[in-house]
Amino acid sequence: MDIATKLEAFLAGEPKIPDDIIFRASQMFNNKLGKFNFTRKRGAGLPSMSQVGKPFCQLHAEKLGWDKVAETDSFKIKMLYGDMTEVIAVALLLAAGVEIVDLNKRIVLQTEAGDIRGELDLIIREGNSHSLWDIKSASRFAFEKKFESYDALKNNDDFGYLEQLYGYTKAERNETPDIKAGGWIAINKESGEMKVVKADPDDEEAYTTKINDTITKYLKADESNFERCFEDEPETFYKKLTGNRKLGKTCSYCNFRYSCWPDLVYAKNPRSKSATAYNYYTVLKD
Ligand code: SF4
Repeated sequence: MDIATKLEAFLAGEPKIPDDIIFRASQMFNNKLGKFNFTRKRGAGLPSMSQVGKPFCQLHAEKLGWDKVAETDSFKIKMLYGDMTEVIAVALLLAAGVEIVDLNKRIVLQTEAGDIRGELDLIIREGNSHSLWDIKSASRFAFEKKFESYDALKNNDDFGYLEQLYGYTKAERNETPDIKAGGWIAINKESGEMKVVKADPDDEEAYTTKINDTITKYLKADESNFERCFEDEPETFYKKLTGNRKLGKTCSYCNFRYSCWPDLVYAKNPRSKSATAYNYYTVLKD
């Protein structure tokens, strides 16, 4: 039985988490809760494995030390929710009989351009073979759209989840020669639904080559060669152009948006009656 089948069978029965697994999960939660006290420092080195697949302009802006939008006071709590979700997922997987042989393991991927560091989530053994998995807590929207299938994730991967998984897998191969990319275990934070999205191990070479190319480009990135990966978009209202321009989705969520678009204005759509119709405008005429 594969992970998805084991998990489905477990949840469809009368699921119980044995005491030893509850104890193991509580220790894991202690470690995660302790992270609340860490202050993340910007490293002077190369991007980490969880960063390297992001749009290149974001890595470039980070390297240049551009000002970021300040984190809200609740940001660290939001991160804790993600960590808690991971603990719950691990406890459920163990209770469902999935054999986890490594958890939260630090790895180093050696590339021609330098070493990329990171921390993988899970290594699972099925029979004699090993596979590597990431756990992702997702909003309802991301759960339904991004994690709909492997192809959906591949076509909408602003966070670089594919580089992350394939990079970890390649890095782990020194210690576990038969390891393959498994995929993602996604949890809908709102509904509690879980979904297993399998990766395609044949894609590993392409994504690890991409990591190498990104790092080569990163080393050459400086003040003189910054390029945005995205353009702003013309605004339409009832299918008519308004003359205003606004940021697309990726830029609207990017922490560097105000440094990248100096005239940016966060304002309500002047034509809309909805109280929530706010946009990031690069051009706002009326
Ligand atoms: S605001 Fe957009 S173009 Fe600028 S760094 Fe962020 S994602 Fe890239």
